[in-house]
Amino acid sequence: MDDRYDVLFEPVKIGPVTAKNRFFAVAHSAGMGFAQPHATAALRAMKAEGGWAVVCTGVCEIDETSDMMGHQNDRLWDDHDVACHRLTTDEIHKYGALAAVELAHLGLGARNLYSRVPALGPASLKCTSAYVPTQSMPMTIADIQAFRAAHRRAVRRAIDAGYDIVYVYAAHDRALPLHFLSSRYNKRTDEYGGSLENRMRLLKELIEDTIEEASGRCAVAVRFAVHDFSGGITLEQEGRAVIEALGDMPDLWDVNVSPWSFDSSTARFAEEGFQDDYIGFVKKLTRKPVVGVGRFTSPDAMVSRIKRGLVDFIGAARPSIADPFIPEKIRTGRIDEIRECIGCNVCASTEMYGVPIRCTQNATIGEEWRKAWHPEKLKPLSNRESALVVGSGPAGLEAALTLARRGVEVSLVEREAFLGGRIAWESKLPGSQTLARVRDYRIYQLERMSNVQIYRGSQVDVEDILQFGARRVVLATGAAWRVDGVGPATPNGIAVCDGVNVYSPETVLAGAPLSGPIVVYDDDHYYVGHGVAEWLRARGCEVTLVTPLADVSQWSYYTLELRRLEERLDEAGITCITKSKVKEVRDGTVITASGRRLASLPCGTFVPVTLREPNRQLADALELRKQDWRDVGIESVTLIGDALAPGTVAAAVYAGAALGRALGEPQRAESFLRERTVLQ
Ligand code: SF4
Repeated sequence: MDDRYDVLFEPVKIGPVTAKNRFFAVAHSAGMGFAQPHATAALRAMKAEGGWAVVCTGVCEIDETSDMMGHQNDRLWDDHDVACHRLTTDEIHKYGALAAVELAHLGLGARNLYSRVPALGPASLKCTSAYVPTQSMPMTIADIQAFRAAHRRAVRRAIDAGYDIVYVYAAHDRALPLHFLSSRYNKRTDEYGGSLENRMRLLKELIEDTIEEASGRCAVAVRFAVHDFSGGITLEQEGRAVIEALGDMPDLWDVNVSPWSFDSSTARFAEEGFQDDYIGFVKKLTRKPVVGVGRFTSPDAMVSRIKRGLVDFIGAARPSIADPFIPEKIRTGRIDEIRECIGCNVCASTEMYGVPIRCTQNATIGEEWRKAWHPEKLKPLSNRESALVVGSGPAGLEAALTLARRGVEVSLVEREAFLGGRIAWESKLPGSQTLARVRDYRIYQLERMSNVQIYRGSQVDVEDILQFGARRVVLATGAAWRVDGVGPATPNGIAVCDGVNVYSPETVLAGAPLSGPIVVYDDDHYYVGHGVAEWLRARGCEVTLVTPLADVSQWSYYTLELRRLEERLDEAGITCITKSKVKEVRDGTVITASGRRLASLPCGTFVPVTLREPNRQLADALELRKQDWRDVGIESVTLIGDALAPGTVAAAVYAGAALGRALGEPQRAESFLRERTVLQ
């Protein structure tokens, strides 16, 4: 290891326990929680194996009033839940890491859809969880006492479960003590409202209770949002006052900004380390160690933060998802093998759905138990295996890399002069530059391997493939955006007459001649529609973005970007028209329909972003020659990724990984293990 990084591997005391280094895998939900305890334990254990000194759970509900059913959180509602957590702590401890649990009550954010008890809040307020049209019950002093008692019981269970660090949670605009602290929510006139001292009383009491319950058997941490961009908590007032008043009470401060969409800002909205300006003051006001996050993947950036006295621990949720082995790779001098988070929040989308986590960069996350996938270890295959991978988009690159790491002789052919497929142009869209990391990481690894040949600018046909001599053929030929307007709202396409240029998004970015004004029609609802609109606007074009849904880029809700995106498009000067579908394009005009209301927009160039057409011509042609496969030594031909079913880059990477890992494995009745309910 480069001795510049020694500081990252210094042990740090956290109250009664000691972390072996400064790498702290902070809490994030994995979409599995109490329903899938083995999968949860295996995911957290992978981070411990990867060298993180502290590995934390996700949100862990304390009782039925903190019910988040549908989001698959962790739970310590009663003593029966302890055994599930034992699985996690035992696994984490095997690797010499500390296990931390984020005990949490989401207050106004708790949905209680399973328990059906009223939400708790400082007053009768609208519940903040999306799509729950209810209000909280204003907590009486007795309710507050009951909540504190429930939190204490959860602390006891956490200690029984073997946790080394127990959290008090006050972050992300979704924590009961934070709702009491916030001037936005707390208008009480009793001893829990009014002055700052009164508003922070509940947080202080929870910390005191937790310290008392722990009584030196574990460390006590507080996760605290020092600033809330949605209001009610400001850095200058509540943020500073809490640290000044309570700074030396807990054993550790894990600090960030709120709400979640800002703490977990995507690369589109924030650079790595953007929280430094907010959390930087904390260490000056406490003698206790401080954790901060910032999507760090570079050890130099990490060292800089330690040396500048900003934090004691490098906190990471997303970087530890994209690469659970960051600490080990730094320790063993393999920095160039770090798979960097791209800040896309596909991981967050799965929490929003309440399904097991996935990641654009790391196909193995969430698959540690049910598929026994390890991010760094692959089962070797016999060196008789050879594979021809056609197409170097995300699916082809991942398939090639996975196969090559298993010892297969891999030939990767790409018809273009450059590698990357869709990433080559999508990463040019404003805010999507980090997508290039998906391509660049894989190309870099492949180019270092002696069993990999890469052929750029090679268009292959069926005869070429039959003559190539590879046992396995993988077709990752991608997909192309349709220009006929066929899409969810326009299943029969959009009629286009002369007088308007019609281009696909990739053709626009390739430099198609434009005439304005430009209408981008987004019936895809992720980043390509608004990205193309922004790209055009940045070149001075007059752009209108039309979508049939109520929001522009509606799927961005799941990546926590939706509201900020609206502002971004507005600031860019892009006119957005929602709840309208394009009916027709003619004579320099786009005709839109919103219900029965028709409208027309001047249009010189029309860019439909509706559906993609899988490029499967090669696969179909090869299928017609199936009788020849055996003669030329082909064992299998597999179509993967967008060429099979267009989707996200994460889905394409996963398809490549699945293909590469399945090769040579026995077929099972079930493709993965399931956690089953056992009737007693
Ligand atoms: Fe990072 Fe995206 Fe992976 Fe989340 S899904 S960890 S943001 S690369």
